[in-house]
Amino acid sequence: MWMSILRFFLIPILLNFFFFCSTPQPYWVKEKQQLFILSKDSVELIFYIEPDSDLYKFRQITRSIFDYLDLLKTYPYLTVKETRYHVIIYKDYHSYKTYRPFKIDSLAHFDRNHKLIHIPLDIQNHLLNRTTPSFVIYHELNHAILEECCKHYPIWLNEGLSFLLQNIAQSFECKKNTIYLPESLLRQKNELIDRRIHLPFYPDFDQIYDIYQQNLISILYVYYLFNSNQLLNYIQIINQDPKKELYFVFTKGNLHLYEKARNDFYEWLKTIKGNRVINGC
Ligand SMILES: [Zn+2]
Repeated sequence: MWMSILRFFLIPILLNFFFFCSTPQPYWVKEKQQLFILSKDSVELIFYIEPDSDLYKFRQITRSIFDYLDLLKTYPYLTVKETRYHVIIYKDYHSYKTYRPFKIDSLAHFDRNHKLIHIPLDIQNHLLNRTTPSFVIYHELNHAILEECCKHYPIWLNEGLSFLLQNIAQSFECKKNTIYLPESLLRQKNELIDRRIHLPFYPDFDQIYDIYQQNLISILYVYYLFNSNQLLNYIQIINQDPKKELYFVFTKGNLHLYEKARNDFYEWLKTIKGNRVINGC
């Protein structure tokens, strides 16, 4: 069953398995060909575009990027540092796969070692029901932003936040309206509820589950925390002492408290449905 996630749950991922691995850099990056720079308010986005890429598609996915960053700045979970973010653009998914040295079926990724975002131009994620692949670049940009401001966040929070925030359509003050949650993420809902997969801060979480299960639970759990107004509190606790073992911080080492938190999450999961983007405050 989980293999179906491997095929269908094609979301861009942060490659935590490859934290210390480097992705090779394609020749057009080394030779500094087709360099595009977009900038606003001391945030610079530097794009290294593969020769023969469709520049119309490039403009499409980057057209609203600063509007997106302006929205993102209203959210208190991260800080958009005034800095440079580097993005390698591949003309298509085939070319991206050629330079991707690992087997995980990612659509795009952020290489933490080199602080480089890798994105193919022809991403079509029918599963997420979007006509534009912009959200993929937003997702990877969120990873790059979190790397600058919030490197101490645990991987599950990094992944969940990147996903949650890729889907914002309005400022934080308007958050009484919901953030888009793709129905496709709930395809495995019954199985998750039956198996009561552990919460992502559970010790050995990343040893027990594969990367697809880890990502799915991380995303849903962060969405749940946001939805139940607990996310900011969690982040404040993590900021206070990033080195502390979160399981003990959140549960005080009390198994009953952990089981209650786990239970609350699964009760929520039973009721939640996917939704659409709602614009306007
Ligand atoms: Zn990711």
